Parts: sequence; structure tokens; C-alpha cells
Amino acid sequence: MTPTTSEAYDHVIVGGGTAGCVLAARLSEDGRRNVLLLEAGGEGKGFWIPIPAGFSKLLVNPAFNWRFWSEPEEATHNRRIAIPRGKGLGGSTLINGMIYVRGQAQDFDGWAQQGCTGWSFDDVLPYFRKLEAFDGEGDGSRGREGPFPVTGVREHPEIAEAFIAAAGQAGYPRNRDYNGLTQDGFGYYQVNQRNGRRITAADAYLTPARQRPNLRVLTGAHVLRVDLKGGRATGVTYRVDGTEHQVIARHGVILTAGAIQTPHLLELSGIGDPTVLAAAGIAVRHELPGVGANYIDHFCTRMNWRVKLPVTLNEATRGWRLGAAVAQYFLTRKGILTLGTGLAHGFVRTRPDLEGPDVQYFFMHASYANAAERKLDREPGMTIGVTQLRPESRGTIHLHAPDPDVPPAIRPNFLAALTDQQCMVAGMKIAREIVGQASMDPYRAYEMAPGGTCQSDANWLAFARDNGQTIYHACGTARMGRSSDSVVDPNLRVRGIEGLWVADASVMPTIVSGNTQAAVLMIAEKAADLIRTDSLAA
Ligand SMILES: Cc1cc2nc3c(=O)[nH]c(=O)nc-3n(C[C@H](O)[C@H](O)[C@H](O)COP(=O)(O)OP(=O)(O)OC[C@H]3O[C@@H](n4cnc5c(N)ncnc54)[C@H](O)[C@@H]3O)c2cc1C
Repeated sequence: MTPTTSEAYDHVIVGGGTAGCVLAARLSEDGRRNVLLLEAGGEGKGFWIPIPAGFSKLLVNPAFNWRFWSEPEEATHNRRIAIPRGKGLGGSTLINGMIYVRGQAQDFDGWAQQGCTGWSFDDVLPYFRKLEAFDGEGDGSRGREGPFPVTGVREHPEIAEAFIAAAGQAGYPRNRDYNGLTQDGFGYYQVNQRNGRRITAADAYLTPARQRPNLRVLTGAHVLRVDLKGGRATGVTYRVDGTEHQVIARHGVILTAGAIQTPHLLELSGIGDPTVLAAAGIAVRHELPGVGANYIDHFCTRMNWRVKLPVTLNEATRGWRLGAAVAQYFLTRKGILTLGTGLAHGFVRTRPDLEGPDVQYFFMHASYANAAERKLDREPGMTIGVTQLRPESRGTIHLHAPDPDVPPAIRPNFLAALTDQQCMVAGMKIAREIVGQASMDPYRAYEMAPGGTCQSDANWLAFARDNGQTIYHACGTARMGRSSDSVVDPNLRVRGIEGLWVADASVMPTIVSGNTQAAVLMIAEKAADLIRTDSLAA
């Protein structure tokens, strides 16, 4: 099909997700440049999106979720693992768990030490502050006036209080702001909600910018490739309702299609590892072996317990009690429908020699008959998700067909590194120790998974291999760095191509110590400054 060349813009942004919404808003705010935002999904409007408890519905809804799957891998016993990704304006913030975690200062200092000049914690802190509207107590490092609301969860059920107290009994202190200067400890999660409703990146950034005459937002526009001429990105080819169009980007193209689809799009455009491209039948336009390598994600096991008392979501979301919760939510914006995936948190060090926590916990007073689809048990139960914060295992995401509609092959390579295996085992043992403390006595009936027969390290590891899932933090697949195996330089420019940037989760050289949306928003805020400066100099 011959595409029709329609229009020209200064900046063409590909993917109206978390980072894309930030860039569209920031690059259009001074009115000096025309911006086109192309999003393959829709407007991102639906009944369940603003309701935090709608998370479980959105995890399986193809209207808002690309619903990718991993390839089977031996280390996770050849299971295909669900890899959800948000689709529509707002991207993964449409369907995510809303947990807000910045990460540790050492994460960003580590980026700078690897050659990513300008990305140390001191460099990125102003961008975290710029994006946040935090309404809780906290130290002076928190932002108060930004577009993205950050607030504590509204529910503090008695069993969560008991869990936090149990952590204290096991020697892990309470921490009222893990996004402040110290991450260690236990308490309640902070979430991106306002008045009990989910606030997406589109709500926070795009909606207020939508009326600007220099910003055009096109939904249902699936970008098929970046167009290249003489070592420069000239625009993109996209498809709307089966018809292909070309748009010219005078200053450049910014890829914000996320850590799964950005490397896919680069490869579809002939940018990548020649061996990979040749195997898929794609002509090489620019050799860049790092594309699709360095795939990092957080692997999570879910331990659960039967609870003695009817104080959990399992019973509270059935029959008349669900009706009461729905009424409470719509009347007061309070109650269990304000809960997404995060209630109480924990950040611990599994070894005393570590500079910061290496394990994160997600406590929820609910247990799942099907964790991937969030189907709740009938009897009272509770779950602790256990995740390693900085895994060493690295996977890949590569295309295996030239057809943009064929999803890429996703190989997370979870648990490949021995350190990762040891850290997961240590983290799960600590979770069991905490639940064994006296303050949990009134609630703990028995451990359902992995259960009392799990005692040796080999048992724990087998449990992880059999049951672990992603907690959806794919990143690193268009890595920022200085060396030739990185994909973008510290100004986020794709190596060797003029006028092409990547500014989403793909650029993280290593994963941050926590849920990734805060770091993605920060990256996009900083990218807007880098690209604006570059554009004014042009
Ligand atoms: C189910 C789930 C739960 C999560 N929970 C949390 C959480 O609680 N806290 C947290 O911090 N993080 C969480 N995350 C992770 C976090 O949401 C992501 O790291 C972050 O939102 C990624 O932002 P992004 O801009 O890189 O990509 P995305 O936000 O995924 O945006 C990519 C956008 O590009 C569009 N797109 C892709 N390909 C094309 C194309 N070819 N043409 C046009 N458009 C295209 C997509 O439709 C999408 O809108 C979760 C993620 C998921 C999926």
C-alpha cells in the first residue's frame, strides 16, 4: 500500500502512553512548535478506568490492554507469562496498580556512574519534584505543585496495621514516606489518585493541554515504522482504519511506545541487530545491536495465607457487602473500591552489607484463586507479593516477523542469575518470618502457598519457578549509555540517527528499585527539556 503524505509537524510523538502524554504537554506548552501525538489505542475512557478496584477487570480487557505473552522459558518451567501493557491515551497508567515509588537515590547515581551524565539523583530530583503533587507528610524532597497527584491509600484495615506491626516485631521499622530520603521499612503505599479516583498520565498532562492549537492528538493511529532518509528520521508511517499515512517530522520523531513496542518499532524500521533483522526478513537501515537487548523486569512471587477472621477483600467483594461497598464508593469515594494493587508496603535488605533495600513487599488482605487474572478466593485470605528490586538477569524483546501486527518475541529470562534466585528465596523467608510474629496471631490461620512443606532453598526456588509472574515493570530495551552497545545517548538521541529520540521505560540502563511509572514520568519530563533545548538550537 502506498501511504499518503498528509502533514508536517515539528515533533511527532509515537505512543500516547505515560511518557507520551508528558512530552505532548510539555513540548506544546510554550506554543513555539507544532506537535502531533499518535496513539494506536483509543481515548482511554471506560467505566472501570477511574475506579481503582477496576484494576482486575482491566488486566484482561483487550480494549485497554495489548495482552502480550512471554515465550516459554525453562527457568520458569516453560510457562507463558502474561505481559499486560496499556493501550489508549494514558498507556499503562490506564491499567496499572497506581502505586507510586520513586526508587532509591543509588539507582540514578548508578546510571550516572555508568556514563549517563545528567541522570544522577541530584540531577533528576528536580524532575520528580516538578511532576508530583504530593499531599502527605514528607521531607523537603517531595514535590507539591506538579500535575501528577500522589496521595496515601485511603484504607488502613486492621489486618494491614497488624502486618506493619509484625514487621516491627521482626526488626523492620515503620516508614511513613518511602519516597523520602529513606526507602527501608513498612507502611502504606502512595498512589496516583485524586478523591478516590485513578488519575492517569492523560488526565494529569494531556487533558489540560488538549485545546492548544499547536497540539494534535490522533487516536487509533498505529505507527508502522519510522521513515529514514540519509541517516535522519524524517517522519513516520502510520495506519488508521486500514489506510496508511505518512507524516513529516521537521525537528524529529520521539518514540514513547513503551519498553515492549519501542524496540519492536525500531526493528520494524530496520534499526537493530543485523542478525535479528535478517532472520525476520527486514532490511538493515542502521546497525544498532543493543535494540531489544537488556530487557529487565521485576519478577514477583505471591505467598498467601488463609485468614481466621472475615476481614479480607475475599468476603467483602461478594453479595450484599459488595453492594454496600459500591454504594459507599459512589457516595463518599472511600472504601475498598479505592484500592488497586497496593495497600501496605515493605522494603527490606536481605543482607546487612547492602546500601539499600533489595526486596519489596506488596501486602493485600486478599488472596487469589487466579493471580494473573486477579480472581479472588471465597474464604478469607491475604497475600504478600515478594519482588527483587534490582535483578541481574537480562532478557530480550525482538521481532520475529516483518508484520507490525505480529507481537514480538518476549524473553524475560527471569531467575537466570544466581543472585536473583538467592534474593527471591531470602525475601520469601523474611515474609514468612514477619507473618509468624505475634501481632498476626489473631489473623493467621495457615500458609496456603507455598505452604509448610516448603522448607529448603530448593523448595523455595521451585515455588518461584512454578508460580512467579511479572509485576509489569518492563524496561531497558533501548538502553541509555555511552558505549556502542547502548541505543540512546544521555540526551536520549538514538545513536547514529539524526532527529530520533526514545523517551520511555526502554531507556533505563538498569531498573529502578520500585514500581516504574514515577521514573518514566521523570524521564519524560527531563526528555522534554532536552528535546526543547535541542530544537531551539536547530
Ligand atoms: C498491569 C500493570 C500494572 C502496573 N502497575 C504499576 C504500579 O502500580 N506502579 C507503577 O509505578 N508502575 C506500574 N506499572 C508499570 C508502569 O505503568 C509502566 O512502567 C509505565 O506506565 C510505562 O510507561 P511508558 O510510557 O514507557 O509506556 P506505556 O505507558 O505503556 O505507553 C506506551 C503507549 O504507546 C502506545 N503504542 C505502542 N505501540 C504503538 C504504535 N506502534 N503506534 C502508536 N502507539 C503505540 C501504546 O498503546 C501505549 O499507549 C504497571 C504496568 C502494568 C501494565
